[in-house]
Amino acid sequence: MNAIGVDVGGTKIAAGVVSAAGKVLDEVRHPTPHSPKKLVEAIAGAIAEVGDGYEVGGVCLAVPGNILSTENRVIFSPNLHAIEGIPLKDELEPKIGLPLTIENDANAAAWGEFRFGAGSDVDHLVFITVGTGIGGGVITHGILMRGAQGAGGELGHTTIQATGPRCSCGNHGCLEAMASGTAIRRRAREVAIERPGSALDRLASAREILGEDVTRLAEEGDAAALSVLREAGTWLGIGLAGFVNIFNPEVVAIGGGVVEAGDLILEPARREIHLRATSPMRDLAEVRVATLGPKSGVLGAAALARGADSGEYVLGTP
Ligand SMILES: [Zn+2]
Repeated sequence: MNAIGVDVGGTKIAAGVVSAAGKVLDEVRHPTPHSPKKLVEAIAGAIAEVGDGYEVGGVCLAVPGNILSTENRVIFSPNLHAIEGIPLKDELEPKIGLPLTIENDANAAAWGEFRFGAGSDVDHLVFITVGTGIGGGVITHGILMRGAQGAGGELGHTTIQATGPRCSCGNHGCLEAMASGTAIRRRAREVAIERPGSALDRLASAREILGEDVTRLAEEGDAAALSVLREAGTWLGIGLAGFVNIFNPEVVAIGGGVVEAGDLILEPARREIHLRATSPMRDLAEVRVATLGPKSGVLGAAALARGADSGEYVLGTP
């Protein structure tokens, strides 16, 4: 049976109708409205539009932020406050006429990579997406780990530096605050000042530095830019080493825009895992680049909708 996965982001809503084999049959994208009423209408509209002409068994929304699965609502979403508190299942099901579930967006992306991407050959996967923020998801024994409230798997908000910079969640020194694209840009501004005359410093004097600028300058050999990426990769590896010890994954899949920097960030991350995680876990865990890119959310959500529909696996709702 086909299912619809909807990836609700801070800037766009992507909805796809997906076959049981993981083929995206049709897809639509619309800008995300930032008022609750218009947001619900836009999501319902995208579902109706993409599902038109297809037999569909269910829908899953991949939503940003912390969810309370027992109530099918988002309780905290720093990049999309409009979605906070909306009873999404109650509001949307009558409009779309299909069973609907919700899932954290990174958990849905993790499920996508597990079913169809970088983790499709294993049963134990840690997935992390490193972009503006850091999201994560954990699959253990082939089951998505969601915790008691459906809010688990927030790997990006693990504290790795007690006195570190403030994070979007309000805590200090989260993995997200040390190794995300936002953290890389912040460190690039700081390192530009610390290293006058570097290419990074010259660019920072001319305009705002973007994440891709840091990667480009590092690839051109600028020592300051290289140090920014090495530092971010080191923090990433410190976080991942802990996850490797806790979850004993076969694969650690890393997605998100920051993997564009490739080995400049992945090599220091791998080194830290090797140095800090313990045997036998560190010897098994293979760090891979996620393969589905931005489609992982839609694919994972659709697979989750199908699972809830068919009883293929049980969602963490009572
Ligand atoms: Zn945080």
